[in-house]
Amino acid sequence: MTKSAVLILLGPPGAGKGTQARMLEEKFGLVQLSTGDLLRAAVAAGTEAGKEAQAVMSAGGLVSDEIVLAILKDRMAEPDTSRGVILDGFPRTAGQAEALDELLEAQGQSIGSAISLDVDDAAMVERVSGRYTCANCGEGYHDSFKQPAVAGVCDKCGSTEFKRRADDNAETVSARLESYHAQTAPLISYYEGKGVLSRVDAMGEIDRVAADLAAIVTQVTA
Ligand code: AMP
Repeated sequence: MTKSAVLILLGPPGAGKGTQARMLEEKFGLVQLSTGDLLRAAVAAGTEAGKEAQAVMSAGGLVSDEIVLAILKDRMAEPDTSRGVILDGFPRTAGQAEALDELLEAQGQSIGSAISLDVDDAAMVERVSGRYTCANCGEGYHDSFKQPAVAGVCDKCGSTEFKRRADDNAETVSARLESYHAQTAPLISYYEGKGVLSRVDAMGEIDRVAADLAAIVTQVTA
């Protein structure tokens, strides 16, 4: 029996949080919970929160804690999250980290591990600018680092439709990196202080990073 775990992936845009969260989801049966995905869904659905978030997201800033926390709490209330969650892109501010602590405490849960994906900033603009996903299943690809085995066909589901995010351009990525360093990177010390921080060198091959992460998750869920 594995313990239900709450894992946090910390790292700047392009560090590989989404890619790695999807791999952990598959390997450990955990649920990937990406506030970026939830916000993009709110924007697409045209909700009030989505309308407010849209301008901030396209400028590379951070959406207000109020909106993000409301979306996160709704998602955490769904039954599948009892299998354990991988938080991808949340928390991003001290306020969000504290609110998460309160939410978990109220549910009798705690953070299994906050894992920092350590990367060189300089490489992130290229990583982010070249990435795209399958429009059907969300599998991630990259112009230079990970092309589908058959050009134009998703390895996972066979779809021939792909999409790129509007905020994955060089200018917005620089603003997103700034937001990360100003508001999110301090959370590394926050979790270190709580004794739950792990660090992974995320500059290497996707599969090697995945193996390092799997070792941490195995320990946390054992
Ligand atoms: P991501 O998909 O994680 O790269 O997030 C895309 C964008 O959504 C970010 O650049 C922010 O504008 C917004 N966003 C996602 N998660 C959060 C969060 N936890 N707090 C504030 N803004 C967020």
